[in-house]
Amino acid sequence: MTRKFTGDQLVIASHNKGKLEEFATLLAPLGIRCVSAGEFDLDEPEETEDTFVGNGRIKAHYAAKATGLPALADDSGLTIDALDGAPGVYTADWAETPHGRDFGMAMEKTWALLEERGAPAPRQAQFRCTLVLAWPDGHDEIVDGSCAGELIWPRRGLDGHGYDPMFQPDGYAQTFAEMTADQKNAISHRARAVAAMMEKCFT
Ligand code: IMP
Repeated sequence: MTRKFTGDQLVIASHNKGKLEEFATLLAPLGIRCVSAGEFDLDEPEETEDTFVGNGRIKAHYAAKATGLPALADDSGLTIDALDGAPGVYTADWAETPHGRDFGMAMEKTWALLEERGAPAPRQAQFRCTLVLAWPDGHDEIVDGSCAGELIWPRRGLDGHGYDPMFQPDGYAQTFAEMTADQKNAISHRARAVAAMMEKCFT
């Protein structure tokens, strides 16, 4: 049976300030206080699985066990049809350089691979987000959200992050990076996953 969240404190199993703020804003009206993994001095467990749900579960269960509180983790990435689902769980890794993450480089590499493969247009891809809510006793609830679109080049738009400038969601003429935060949040994979989790465990 689905378990509902009943407490008033939730650990966000992430060290990403943006994610913490996003979840805190969404959950504040329900009287839920979000506390970040950083505030508990938790380290980041290694993401050793090869699926979004596998890595989401590692992060959520680690934080729930360590704090004794329910914990929410997300894992997300881009899956590209013509690259057999890559980069997938390795989306952030494709941007790694010795000097930090470089998404301009990662997008160039992605487009070069599609050219090399002679992938026909439209080059379909999906942003995916899995959310895992875990309890200290080992129970968890899992939801997914996705947003389908086409990869385009040259990339367009200055807002957004990650691969946003080369991703044009189906039915729209703008890339994620050309949209306002509100426009993107109305259709994004993360927003859809959050809505599904709200419906499942927070109502
Ligand atoms: P993680 O879920 O924090 O491991 O991050 C996965 C990676 O997927 C991020 O570093 C981004 O590169 C990419 N990603 C996830 N969501 C988005 C998005 O909304 N726009 C652009 N890139 C994203």
